[in-house]
Amino acid sequence: MMRSEPFDEPRLLEAARNGDEHAMGLLIERYQPRVLRFGLRMCRNVEDAQDVVQDTLLAAARGLKRFEGRASISTWLYTIARSYCIKKRRRSKFAPPREESLNDDDNDDVRRLAAPERSPEQAAMDREMEAALRVAIDGLEPMYREVLVLRDMEGLTAPEVAQVVGASVGAVKSRLHRARARIREALLPFLQADVEDASNSDCPDVIELFSKNLEGEISESLCHQLQSHVDRCPRCKRKCDSIQRVVLMCRTQREPIVPEQLRTAVSEAVRALQSNKPTGSFR
Ligand SMILES: [Zn+2]
Repeated sequence: MMRSEPFDEPRLLEAARNGDEHAMGLLIERYQPRVLRFGLRMCRNVEDAQDVVQDTLLAAARGLKRFEGRASISTWLYTIARSYCIKKRRRSKFAPPREESLNDDDNDDVRRLAAPERSPEQAAMDREMEAALRVAIDGLEPMYREVLVLRDMEGLTAPEVAQVVGASVGAVKSRLHRARARIREALLPFLQADVEDASNSDCPDVIELFSKNLEGEISESLCHQLQSHVDRCPRCKRKCDSIQRVVLMCRTQREPIVPEQLRTAVSEAVRALQSNKPTGSFR
């Protein structure tokens, strides 16, 4: 979570529950880009993702009073968003996934500002790889895709992901390991790990073990053993570096810029909803 500005979530929630429009607006501002990012990866097309954002935030605004705070607000929002994504999927079952590009140019500008020292070649390479990452994620079956997106892009914990998707933590983790391995395979041409010769029977499955280690499923002694193997084995070292890079890339995916007309539509819909309620004040 960003900590650059004070964001007193419990206080905002309380105020929003009491009908404070400003507090509600701040909460929406905060979560809108994340719901959009999730929707884009789950729906795989811009229009559906935008619908999901609007439906989710309106449902959340309507249901805020019922939100009991047992889950974090983001877990709750992703749960709502997921149900709308599933509805969309049912409706467009036979429609092929469409390549999406949501204001990529805007995002590139943000990137240039964030990393002005990068050469144009490096920037182009990164862009290509990010596009390949999106294609790879989009190619996963929904049950793997949602777990990877929630855990590695949206940053939920495995138990939170389990709550959102209604599966056991164990099931979430095993889907996650598989999803990460598949994404890495898809990105091999970019990872300079291309020398993937037939696996040596003495070598451990470093890809799965690395993923398990991220989820705290590896004992300390096994971890040490692995490390000493990786230090001695260039092939496993390459594999380890590649899976690490893939996970890092997922985890550093920027929030998309929410198109102005979507922001306006959401805030107008929420305001209309609130105008039927008594208002409080947030100071
Ligand atoms: Zn090895």
